[in-house]
Amino acid sequence: MTDSGNETSVGQYLTEAQHLSVVSQLVPALNPGEVLIAPRSVTLCGSDMHYFQKGCNGSIKILQPLCLGHEFSGNIVELGPGVTDRQQGDLVAIEPGVACGKCELCLDGRYNICPELRFRGSGSAWPHFQGGLQTRVVHPAAWTHKLPPGMTSEEGALLEPLAVAVHACRRAGIKPGSSCTVIGAGAVGLLCAVAARLSGCSRIVIADIVRSRVEFALHYRFADAGFVVPAKRGATAEEELEIATEMAKSLAEVRSPDGTPVGRSNYTFECTGVQSCVQASILTTKAGGKAVLVGMGTPNHLLPISDASAREVDIIAVWRYANCYPEAIDIMEKSKSDPMMPDIGQMITHRFHGLENVHQALTCASKSRDEDGNMVIKVVVNVNEEELDV
Ligand SMILES: [Zn+2]
Ligand SMILES: [Zn+2]
Repeated sequence: MTDSGNETSVGQYLTEAQHLSVVSQLVPALNPGEVLIAPRSVTLCGSDMHYFQKGCNGSIKILQPLCLGHEFSGNIVELGPGVTDRQQGDLVAIEPGVACGKCELCLDGRYNICPELRFRGSGSAWPHFQGGLQTRVVHPAAWTHKLPPGMTSEEGALLEPLAVAVHACRRAGIKPGSSCTVIGAGAVGLLCAVAARLSGCSRIVIADIVRSRVEFALHYRFADAGFVVPAKRGATAEEELEIATEMAKSLAEVRSPDGTPVGRSNYTFECTGVQSCVQASILTTKAGGKAVLVGMGTPNHLLPISDASAREVDIIAVWRYANCYPEAIDIMEKSKSDPMMPDIGQMITHRFHGLENVHQALTCASKSRDEDGNMVIKVVVNVNEEELDV
């Protein structure tokens, strides 16, 4: 037994769409292998926004108050029995998905698709596995990653979406010297571009419907060339396919910095989940290449399968990540020390301090521009020092 059982955790819990309540809960005594963590920085993600706006994320509805936030880092404040490889005060990134460790998939190293996996800040498990927008979290030490000296808690939070990008690149099996297109220049798209570059892609094109996002990606050297996708939506799946065909054609005509058209790419990372973009991701991939579906959107799509077959374009499904945090930490360190690499921390455009501002933070993160017209890419909530002294 440890004394964590005397502490409370205070957090912001989503009770229904757009409604948060402050909830205090007793922290349970730590089991063997667990640590007590004081979250420091929580970056907000698309799924947090879906829950906040609608009370659900796709088909997953919240069934009890849910503490959001699965991208977070924090300090270890107490060690449970048997934890020898962590120390009090360690700043760690929390890997939010805890798998069973015993099933066929876990034993095969694919724990991201373990049927027993519980994921923080998600309504998929019952009772819900609560997220990081609270003052204390009990988590297995084995599912935490110690941050190297000099890495900030905000950078630690960004390791989660970076792990998604690392996994997408591993699934693609990128060959050095190849070309890649990223559709969607939000946080995950930008991180896919970084991971693709470090996996050896020598030419990266990025596309987005929002001009300022494309400009951001080019300015900070996430990509070599950019394309602003015209805002069009088809009324039918066939119309969407026409839009996608046009988009793929325009994408191929984008000019590299040396003035030559980029043509199709060996790999395309689709990070929007929008049907016409998913269709375009196949059409804009070279014969023998791979279209990697990273974005989650409409659950069912009409896809140009015969085009994919006739040109052997592999369609790769990706779901979160497995064993990707160590590589994500390496990439984050390189992004800080190598002047030729984009500085990943730049993508945090908005900071909120204190758990009392979570509502405001989620509202801000739900928009592509803030009230002053500034672009929103990634929003972070930093937990105040006083809040941690519970
Ligand atoms: Zn996320
Ligand atoms: Zn498992």
